[in-house]
Amino acid sequence: MTSEQLFEKAKTLIPGGVNSPVRAFRSVGGNPLFIKSAKGPYLYDEDGREYIELINSWGPMILGHAFEPVEKAVADAIQHSFSFGAPTRKEVEMAELIVSMVPSVEMVRMVNSGTEATMAAIRVARGFTGRDKLIKFEGCYHGHGDSFLIAAGSGAMTMGIPDSPGVTKATAADTLTAPYNDLAAVEELLLNNHNQVAAVILEPVVGNMGCVLPEPGFLEGIRSLCDQHGVVLIFDEVMTGFRLAKGGAQERFGITPDLTTMGKIIGGGMPVGAYGGRADIMRMVAPAGPVYQAGTLSGNPIAMSAGLAMLHHLNDHPEVYTRLDAIGDKLTAGFRQTLEKLGLAYTINHISSMFTLFMTERPVIDFAGAKSCDTALFGRYFHAMLDRGVYLAPSQFESLFLSVALTDDLVDRIIQANDESLRDVIG
Ligand code: PLP
Repeated sequence: MTSEQLFEKAKTLIPGGVNSPVRAFRSVGGNPLFIKSAKGPYLYDEDGREYIELINSWGPMILGHAFEPVEKAVADAIQHSFSFGAPTRKEVEMAELIVSMVPSVEMVRMVNSGTEATMAAIRVARGFTGRDKLIKFEGCYHGHGDSFLIAAGSGAMTMGIPDSPGVTKATAADTLTAPYNDLAAVEELLLNNHNQVAAVILEPVVGNMGCVLPEPGFLEGIRSLCDQHGVVLIFDEVMTGFRLAKGGAQERFGITPDLTTMGKIIGGGMPVGAYGGRADIMRMVAPAGPVYQAGTLSGNPIAMSAGLAMLHHLNDHPEVYTRLDAIGDKLTAGFRQTLEKLGLAYTINHISSMFTLFMTERPVIDFAGAKSCDTALFGRYFHAMLDRGVYLAPSQFESLFLSVALTDDLVDRIIQANDESLRDVIG
């Protein structure tokens, strides 16, 4: 069956034909591609076409697809059954590795997705502080837990449903929101909700309204406001963790959160998440403490094996990060040259292997800036790139993710495709 036939059938069986909304291509038009396999920097669809991959499973494939040490670790692990629901040696190794790599993490609990990690982190922060409210930022996405579907980014923003029906008014009332990069707004919320805010949660570099960087002083300012008000600071590093540096954004920016949420990357592509941080806070988690959180498949041995192979490689090969920085620099320099040549003043936000070309002339430092983009133009650009064999995230409001599998030749091909695609769509 072709992608088109599969999608027609899927729509009768799965809501919208997909198991996660952005995959449906709604905001860029057309039908989604059904992917059959991937290797290194390439994706292959059911129609027999090859694409250069710039999503990388929304982050985890830092080393490219089907990276051999990860494949081998999984092949070895499956010989010993798939799940025990009992503790394993690999979970201890994983915890030890994460604690050694991520500066703020003293103890860590494995879960099965980024959504689970953020939901649990908030519960622990509430249990620790005895307070109910949380502050999140407009356009940040922290998974689909009820508390986070308020002014949410990513698919919720793409679909135009940042505030989802089904979230109760009581839950929504406990989530306070501020514009990203606006310290004064956070301070005002903390003063107006004195002693009621348990946590501030943010993406230290946002991937979910497109790539948005913290302005100088923003992360430092949030850290000190949290200290002043006794609030737990949570960095959601589901996208940035192990990507922007081996210790994530917190290492790159030198800011220490109290809790960190991690996701897909630590499973090397398998369904995994984790949350960790200060030992005094993490000791609140059951059975050490009273805050309940559990999972039958948590610490699954196959997922741990994949993740361990991936993280060991990252830990032992610092040149991965130098290379990711170099690929990102080369690619965005090429894109900027094209913009200049064509007299276009669009905004490119970039850090290391994360970047977004925003179809707006405004600087994008928050949700309002991201929303000023010409999304119809982005849809045409997306398809022009796809026609040239480059697979971008099917939404303006997502970061792209590079892998070390991209060679310089492939980077040149992407720059060329971008040049031709922009010429096509601006007419
Ligand atoms: N937090 C951030 C920053 C994310 O980017 C995502 C997903 O993309 C999540 C949380 C939720 O993770 P998951 O989709 O694994 O539930």
